[in-house]
Amino acid sequence: MGEYPASGLGQALGDLANRSLQHGLDIASNPLNLYATAFAHAVLTMPLVQDIEFETPTVKVDRHTFQMVLSAIVKGNIRVILMDATDPDRQVGAAVYVSGDNLLKLSSVDLRRDRSKSSIIHESVHASHDILKRSDLSVWSTEQAAYIAEAVLARLMPAYAEAQRVPQFLQDPESAAYNALFRPAWNLAVKIVDQGIKKIPGNDVDLLNLFSAIQQAKPYQSTWADKILADGI
Ligand SMILES: [Zn+2]
Repeated sequence: MGEYPASGLGQALGDLANRSLQHGLDIASNPLNLYATAFAHAVLTMPLVQDIEFETPTVKVDRHTFQMVLSAIVKGNIRVILMDATDPDRQVGAAVYVSGDNLLKLSSVDLRRDRSKSSIIHESVHASHDILKRSDLSVWSTEQAAYIAEAVLARLMPAYAEAQRVPQFLQDPESAAYNALFRPAWNLAVKIVDQGIKKIPGNDVDLLNLFSAIQQAKPYQSTWADKILADGI
């Protein structure tokens, strides 16, 4: 569970506030960033998150993935901030990880919203690749793992354990591209959680469908084949 168990949240936040005061980080000057940090901490210490475990041909994701991100956040090596209303990254998604700045940007901090939680899981997969300096990975490869991790978290939630279809919060009635990403990711999550298939073979039809969906989705159209920026934190 990283350096702090969930019950130690107050202690962790106190330490963060003190450290940020010492180092001039903006957590202290903007209390909203302290909330954002607390929210990320709360999500990453959720018991369900510790059960996320799978492997693609290039990437392994398990509780250590999320522990290393939590630890980096607690140490102040990754900063968590709340995007303001004018931030163009709000259009990109519920959360964004900026590798060059070691910055996790959230668009909302609402523990009642499943999408807020799953987006932190998605971005934490990217953050872990930055920590691990996985500059050998392509954009599509880190995205594949990030979408699957989100869907696995959803499948592990009691509300969706028996769901026959992709949960509502992973659907967008106005975006076929969005749905094309989460449909195969959800199918993979069902295989991983229900059938215990932890290692997804490269020729898995859903993994291939997820790959094509990433290739075709607007944010990745020109970058999907590029190597990722993973310069460490
Ligand atoms: Zn992503």
